[in-house]
Amino acid sequence: MSATVLDLVHLAQSIKEWGRELGFQQVGIADVQLGEHERHLQRWLDAGYQGEMDYMAAHGSKRSHPEQLVLGTLRVVSLRMDYLPGDTRMSACLAQPETAYVSRYALGRDYHKLIRKRLQQLAERIQQAIGPFGHRAFVDSAPVLEKAIAEQAGLGWIGKNTLILNRKAGSWFFLGELFVDLALPVDAPHATEHCGRCTACLDICPTAAFVAPYVLDARRCISYLTIEYKGSIPVELRPLIGNRVFGCDDCQLVCPWNRFAKPTEQNDFQPRHGLDNAALSALFRWSEEEFLSRTEGSPLRRAGYERWLRNLAVGLGNAPSSIAVLEALAARRDDPSELVREHVRWALQRHGQA
Ligand code: SF4
Repeated sequence: MSATVLDLVHLAQSIKEWGRELGFQQVGIADVQLGEHERHLQRWLDAGYQGEMDYMAAHGSKRSHPEQLVLGTLRVVSLRMDYLPGDTRMSACLAQPETAYVSRYALGRDYHKLIRKRLQQLAERIQQAIGPFGHRAFVDSAPVLEKAIAEQAGLGWIGKNTLILNRKAGSWFFLGELFVDLALPVDAPHATEHCGRCTACLDICPTAAFVAPYVLDARRCISYLTIEYKGSIPVELRPLIGNRVFGCDDCQLVCPWNRFAKPTEQNDFQPRHGLDNAALSALFRWSEEEFLSRTEGSPLRRAGYERWLRNLAVGLGNAPSSIAVLEALAARRDDPSELVREHVRWALQRHGQA
């Protein structure tokens, strides 16, 4: 297609309006040059901080070159959507060691589906305006450097906790990207960072997973250990995990910029099945059928039943001794999974039950 510069300026404005109408709080447009981020990623991979996440090293240079990943891409539209449910008693839940803490992004329906659908709707609106054009939507996809793109598109800066931070919205939001073959005018990259001398996220991290500001060793990160990691959780890290059974939000909870975070407008992201205030022992009693039906369409499915039980066993091992905790653990002493049995043994030992 051919379009004048004026057409493209007008189109870029329309894309931002349509994005907001579709429930995104902010929309920016980036070019495809991500050079410094590519070098940062390579240093991180060279240090082995990705753990078992081999997909982080896959795709070669395509990850930092959107135009190689989707041929013909000229710009990336980067969009963010708030996900924080209104009142989720986060700190209270973390302070109750017999209650399970589930990362706030995982309390409701899986965001991938919703955001991908909205990105497709955005693409359809563009197509209605200009006719067929090349595009592809991504949500939390392995081969896309989404935080680098968001920074490049002016949505925020990458904070010392490695998340995108926005001065008006904190960090409780999802990102999505629409790769397009349109030479849209780009937004100014977010050039300044506003972490300053703050180190709250680095200091609070329960497992000391930040080896330096902006550098996370995923192998120690509770989100990685409870969601991505398939094996036996290192024994020395288990006591530090506390009651966090799926992900961890500590580096966001403590971030001063999250005073400005807004509650989500999406019903899909509201807590389901009381997961924002459930007893570890009650969740540990879920059968596999209950797990599958209660996590249908939920990010919790990513861990799978076996790892869900593994994580809960760690939480129960860290909880104060009580009849409910000891009975829940004892009931799984002979679980069919050796992974679960091993974590149950560890938890029972913590309660003085050999
Ligand atoms: S807690 Fe402080 S250092 Fe960490 S991301 Fe937030 S502002 Fe930056």
